[in-house]
Amino acid sequence: MASLPEALAETRLEWDSPLYRMAVAQFDQAVEHAGIHEDSAERLRYPERSIIVSVPVRMDDGRTVVFPGYRVQHSSILGPTKGGVRYDEDVTLGECAALAMWMTWKCALLRLPYGGAKGGVRCNPRAMSQGELERLTRRFTSELLPIIGPQEDIPAPDMATDEQTMAWMMDTYSMQSGFAVPEIVTGKPISIGGSVLRMEATGAGVVMVVARACERLGWRLEDQRCVVQGFGNVGSVAARELTERGAQVIAVSDVSGGLHAEDGLAIEELEAYVRKHGSLAGCEAGRRISNEELLELECDILVLAAREDQVTGENASRVRARMIAEGANGPTTLEADEILAARGIPVLPDVLTNAGGVTVSYFEWVQDLGRIFWTRDEIRAKLAEKLADAFDRVWDVSQERGITLRTSALVAGIRDVAEALEARGLFP
Ligand code: GLU
Repeated sequence: MASLPEALAETRLEWDSPLYRMAVAQFDQAVEHAGIHEDSAERLRYPERSIIVSVPVRMDDGRTVVFPGYRVQHSSILGPTKGGVRYDEDVTLGECAALAMWMTWKCALLRLPYGGAKGGVRCNPRAMSQGELERLTRRFTSELLPIIGPQEDIPAPDMATDEQTMAWMMDTYSMQSGFAVPEIVTGKPISIGGSVLRMEATGAGVVMVVARACERLGWRLEDQRCVVQGFGNVGSVAARELTERGAQVIAVSDVSGGLHAEDGLAIEELEAYVRKHGSLAGCEAGRRISNEELLELECDILVLAAREDQVTGENASRVRARMIAEGANGPTTLEADEILAARGIPVLPDVLTNAGGVTVSYFEWVQDLGRIFWTRDEIRAKLAEKLADAFDRVWDVSQERGITLRTSALVAGIRDVAEALEARGLFP
């Protein structure tokens, strides 16, 4: 028989990808501080279940194109699995596996009764019509029917998916059931059982976490000059909420590049421009800069709300922010984490900072199951309470142990999952 490490290396190949290796390496760093049994740690290094599907779509020109689709469920120890569905050219099984694992720690850290999942279809959504996206979504959903369900796995929006995508998923699932099943997805339109605040929840949560960090550091949020990478559902809301709280947003970016104005950008005008033109391309509200320049601007708070792998071993030494907040999943690599820690730049980690999205998703699911709906103020207050509780636990352990906020956040999530795993025991 092969020795254990060799066997492990082999069995991990299915999910192998740079992002999965990063998720496992972060996990291993946290396990050193979590004090959990190595058998539990070993179980948690692998997703529980994964599915690969082929999604044939009739395109507008009459051709049929087959897209690869995935859903990875990392852990069902604490409850149904939960996580987004993304449409992107980089989607792979290994990417979904990493993102699913992070969802497990995120849900546990926020004390939501869920495990992590993530899925997606490898495609270029910007090159597809609404009709093509609808057919893709409906066929992908029907391919996932054997493994999704309100008590099994509950999808939500992620990169390039939105309320409309969730409405198609909900309708496809409901048509198979013969009745409306709003609790099958979260992030739906309010008219079919969605929750108020869900669409703004991730961005709003980012700012709640940033504000709490500023309080602990003795910084006044109103004095902060912020740079926001990404102007989608997370970045645009975070930028707006930052300005509403009196901070200045001096630069933003999206796929078309960045905009910089040292005396602050008018975020609502930029949002109106994007609604009209689809992106910031051609917008002259500030000096045009590249994505690389944006990441290296001198500022107080850099919000990374675009995608993974943005601050790396290559550019981390040139970052001139005093603090980084991760609105996206996995935007800071392991090498960058080390450099930033050595430079004393705190990183508010993704599993805490962007957890507002899944937290309000949980509120949406609970409301759907109970057929009773809460007000915006009630949900905002519940979200603030959950994030503040998680933030305080992460901050205090990081201070006590002298570990990074990321490791501290992962330790909190991993411990709770491992404790539940040990209580339930290994089947059979
Ligand atoms: N895709 C989001 C995330 O990465 C939200 C997931 C959810 O609401 O289930 O956290």
